[in-house]
Amino acid sequence: MNTLNKSALPDENGYFGEYGGQIIPPELKQVMDEICRAYLDIKDTREFQDELQDLYTHYVGRPSPVFLARRLTEKLGGARILFKREDLNHTGAHKINHCLGEALLAKFMGKTKVLAETGAGQHGVALATACALVGIDCEIHMGEIDIKKEHPNVTKMKILGCKLVPVSRGTKTLKDAVDSAFEEYLRDPANFFYAIGSVVGPHPFPMMVRDFQSVVGREARQQCLDEYGRLPDIVTACVGGGSNAIGLFTGFLDDESVQLIGVEPGGKGLDTPYHAATLSKGVKGSIHGFECYNLQDEKGEPLPVHSIASGLDYPGVGPQHCHLKDIGRVSYVSINDQECLEAFMTLSRTEGLIPALESAHAVAHVMKIAGTMDREKIILINLSGRGDKDADFVAETLNL
Ligand SMILES: *Cc1c(COP(=O)(O)O)cnc(C)c1O
Repeated sequence: MNTLNKSALPDENGYFGEYGGQIIPPELKQVMDEICRAYLDIKDTREFQDELQDLYTHYVGRPSPVFLARRLTEKLGGARILFKREDLNHTGAHKINHCLGEALLAKFMGKTKVLAETGAGQHGVALATACALVGIDCEIHMGEIDIKKEHPNVTKMKILGCKLVPVSRGTKTLKDAVDSAFEEYLRDPANFFYAIGSVVGPHPFPMMVRDFQSVVGREARQQCLDEYGRLPDIVTACVGGGSNAIGLFTGFLDDESVQLIGVEPGGKGLDTPYHAATLSKGVKGSIHGFECYNLQDEKGEPLPVHSIASGLDYPGVGPQHCHLKDIGRVSYVSINDQECLEAFMTLSRTEGLIPALESAHAVAHVMKIAGTMDREKIILINLSGRGDKDADFVAETLNL
């Protein structure tokens, strides 16, 4: 168990308060328990820590800097705005932090193949990258419709040498890619490793992915102290499954003076069915092997969700976020597609930073509140990824 601080969770059954756990058949529970034991055995060993730290430093390019956005601060006329630059990581986002951890763990456990599904291809590319580096086979399942839509990511995965499995059943998108990848995993769970792409899924994944991402918050807290002599007043990040947010928040959970805000995708509006604001509008239930707030129909089936940012459109959310909402430690707000686009353009044109549409959600919320705050205050935003992948779409949408 992680006994570093008083917020240390989950408990030994993988629960964060009422959320998380392992809502899975007994055979699979055995496999998850084995992964959990292996992780707890390996994670604090010198060998694993040294290798992961070395890769973070020399491969990913950590620590990522904290950047003071002077022109954006001036434009909004209030609190100073800092960005934690996860967009500068190799492969352009925070996902490489946990994909490297997972690939390395799979290798340490002697697994023969790492498996995953991908929607827009971001998780697929980060995982294929990590597997190429670590030297382990990688197989990614992806819906045929997504394969057509996400050409650059598909090409990258092929170049990186992973086996790409097109999924032609059902919706031909993420939902069926999950089922397809999972069926393959169940053929030989003793030798395969299913690499989950966020702080979701059965225990131990929400804990492991959180631990791998917590490097972001540890660095950012120290950088704020070293460079600004104090902690930020507000720390904020976008929330899809919740990995970039929990990674940053973990560094500040015990700092009571620091207000934490998660920003969910409001899509076309919370009063329409076209959003993915799980924490704002969801109900308690289970999805994909764990308990959390989720968006579901009367029969308990996951609802189709929408966000302009494909990395945020998931009908569930990490169990730790659900707990942090319930205990009031983190507040969760939402930003709609239009506000996201405006923030995307504003950040690009005031700072020369083209953000991922996912990250632009957090920027949009800060654009609403910074001007109401004192100039002495500091807001820290996780710039979870760069927006190259979104540039063509935005240009088309806005007729640029
Ligand atoms: C995937 C992705 C997200 C959403 O995932 P979380 O697990 O919620 O962090 C956010 N930002 C970027 C850039 C992504 O690629």
